[in-house]
Amino acid sequence: MKFNTKTIHGGQEHDPAYGSVMPPIYQTSTYAQSTPGGHKGYEYSRTHNPTRNALENAFASIENGKYGLAFGSGLAAIDAVIKLLKPGDEVISTNDLYGGTYRLFTKIFEGFGIKFHFIGMQNADNIESYVNQNTKLIWVETPTNPMMNIIDIKSVSKVAKKHDIILAVDNTFATPYLQVPLDLGADIVMHSATKYLGGHSDVVMGALIVKDKELADKLYFIQNASGAVCGPQDSFLVLRGIKTLHVRMQRHCENGKAVAEYLRTHPKIEKVYWPGFEDHPNHNIAREQMKDFGGMISFVTKGNDYNEAVKIVEKLKVFTLAESLGGVESLSGHPASMTHASIPKEEREKTGVVDSLIRLSVGIEDEDDLIADLKQAIG
Ligand SMILES: *Cc1c(COP(=O)(O)O)cnc(C)c1O
Repeated sequence: MKFNTKTIHGGQEHDPAYGSVMPPIYQTSTYAQSTPGGHKGYEYSRTHNPTRNALENAFASIENGKYGLAFGSGLAAIDAVIKLLKPGDEVISTNDLYGGTYRLFTKIFEGFGIKFHFIGMQNADNIESYVNQNTKLIWVETPTNPMMNIIDIKSVSKVAKKHDIILAVDNTFATPYLQVPLDLGADIVMHSATKYLGGHSDVVMGALIVKDKELADKLYFIQNASGAVCGPQDSFLVLRGIKTLHVRMQRHCENGKAVAEYLRTHPKIEKVYWPGFEDHPNHNIAREQMKDFGGMISFVTKGNDYNEAVKIVEKLKVFTLAESLGGVESLSGHPASMTHASIPKEEREKTGVVDSLIRLSVGIEDEDDLIADLKQAIG
């Protein structure tokens, strides 16, 4: 099955009871048993729920995995991955990272004795010097947030395999429409399904997808034992979202290209970060591992003035100033004061998150309206 078919049919069966085409929302916590242990595969909804299972099968299908797991949020999914580790273990992670992931790693798990190294991974050789016998996990985000660096998943996976380290890739920004990390050597794919997979800014959810049965069993154990599952209503919404993922992504990419090219010619803009530009430092890797370049763009204004950047995001009308990304509607954000506020200023500036950086999640509205909006706001 090809990707555009998998988004609609992958892992899906019509409901056996009445043939409903979409899975019913099984809004139940428990399931009747005819005799102790005599059930139809479902005992309790933290462990299994038919609506959630339908979604988990869709996750596995679109990411070319075998097992999908749905969580109550993206961070809950990451939390489950780190719980594979024990005190003394070490993690090598990209330095230009979603703020909440950084917070979870440093403010929660460092306290449990897990050590994190945040490094630039544009050159995979850089990783090797941080590897020791305690290294158990490499955590990659690509494109990175919000600097749009591209990390070569295949090269990183070679280092991971050589040292028997689990490689996890946060595929939230790219989605499997653009890149399939399991095909490039990753062991775990993670999503904030809140973003493109859900696609309509109406649900918070996380996902993990793996191929390996042993790893899947460990993660299922953690999911059930820790309990950060999502509800059936939210599962239904994300399953519905996935059915249009490919058409939405196609338009996100087209609009993203138009907006990036417009901003690049604007006299008040200093720099535009978008992997589709030929002079983007990792453009060749993006070309190789991604099908297109996505709808996420960051830019910096000339003079790098904090207040001017704030004024621009306040003036935008079609772009809503809001946290999050990946919905049908365009959003703007000011990382220094919003998503990356929890990262110390010196740390964030090292990776390029300066005071005037603005991040756009380009939606699927008419491209002319998006460009007109940027024009009136930037001036
Ligand atoms: C939003 C996001 C997360 C966290 O997901 P939640 O669903 O908000 O918990 C993790 N990684 C990336 C890249 C994100 O954009």
